[in-house]
Amino acid sequence: MSDKGLRPETLAAHALKPVDAATGAVTPPLYLATTYARDADYRPKLRENYVRSGNPTLWQAEEAIAALERGRAALLFPSGMAALTTVFETVPQGGHVVAPDVMYYGTRAWLKRLERLGRIRLTLFDAATPGALEAALRPGETDVVWIETPLNPTWDVIDIAAAASAAHAAGAILAVDATATAAVTTQPLSLGADIVFHSATKYLNGHSDVLAGALVTATEDARWAELQLLRTKSQAPLAPFDCYLLMRGLRTLFLRYRQASANALALARHFEMHPKLERVLYPGLASHRGHAVAARQMRDGFGGMMSLLVRGGFADAQRLCTSLRVIVPATSLGGVESLAEHRKAVEGPESPVPDNLVRLSIGIEHVDDLAADLEQALCVL
Ligand code: PLP
Repeated sequence: MSDKGLRPETLAAHALKPVDAATGAVTPPLYLATTYARDADYRPKLRENYVRSGNPTLWQAEEAIAALERGRAALLFPSGMAALTTVFETVPQGGHVVAPDVMYYGTRAWLKRLERLGRIRLTLFDAATPGALEAALRPGETDVVWIETPLNPTWDVIDIAAAASAAHAAGAILAVDATATAAVTTQPLSLGADIVFHSATKYLNGHSDVLAGALVTATEDARWAELQLLRTKSQAPLAPFDCYLLMRGLRTLFLRYRQASANALALARHFEMHPKLERVLYPGLASHRGHAVAARQMRDGFGGMMSLLVRGGFADAQRLCTSLRVIVPATSLGGVESLAEHRKAVEGPESPVPDNLVRLSIGIEHVDDLAADLEQALCVL
């Protein structure tokens, strides 16, 4: 049966294909070969004959992710950073890039590095100020508008459709880091974005055991051809075993994401008025400044990511993390296990992130255990 018309839950559960055509296997086959024989006419039996150019396990994972995002094609890279830095490689020398000032700190640091080297011109905008993105654009000069939504770690929400039309009117493309929404609640391409990026290390895999990055495109244009070339020649595709693990994780994406979202919403509501907290930042709360856009843009849950602003400073935020017993004090996000991180300690003194911010990646545990753990850790402050 073709995947046309199937719902995303079904596509994900089958990692796109319910059975392997050659063997009838119901789980995706793992092809580890680095090289593939040619046929009697000396043509590759498959599309490619060398692993760096592609292989059947990679293609199945890429096609599954492209189908989930309703895109034309996907490319998997050995890390999220490898994928996103390759997008910026396609910006012409001296080209203009627009991005939010608060976002995943690795992306911001990379863009600032490219600006320092004279490789790009960069304008960072405040996503919380209406009209700031539009004001940052330079019509005819801006090449890429890079946004993240919700934004890590304030979970501010950017209106993708509005950003896409502003970017297009200026002659730029819109690329969206959708790591925190993972093809479940938001499909940026259907809202007008040109490229969607995922750190597939997070929700798409969901088990904290694969490092991977994904790009999905709305059109197979000249930039996409350049991305394919760069991925093959200067980067590398995700290795077959990691593709296999990624597909294993992908098959439960919807269950995991919905459980994490339900847990996060319950915790956000429960702790919103806690006397030891200044604020809970979660787009599912009516008090969050991004809530109205999130409610429109995020179809089915607000995700598992939230931040707590503790009453106190740097040391109190860190003490909260180290006092947790169920939630693990560790970096990263999107796994089945809940994690807490004191972002300022990780990002360094230059970071715009408040000293008292603790980022939580809520997992799929029983919500009462998570609530009790947070409660006891807040009591220590
Ligand atoms: N984008 C976001 C929002 C992230 O959270 C991360 C990693 O934490 C990345 C990009 C980079 O991805 P990776 O760690 O897979 O290289």
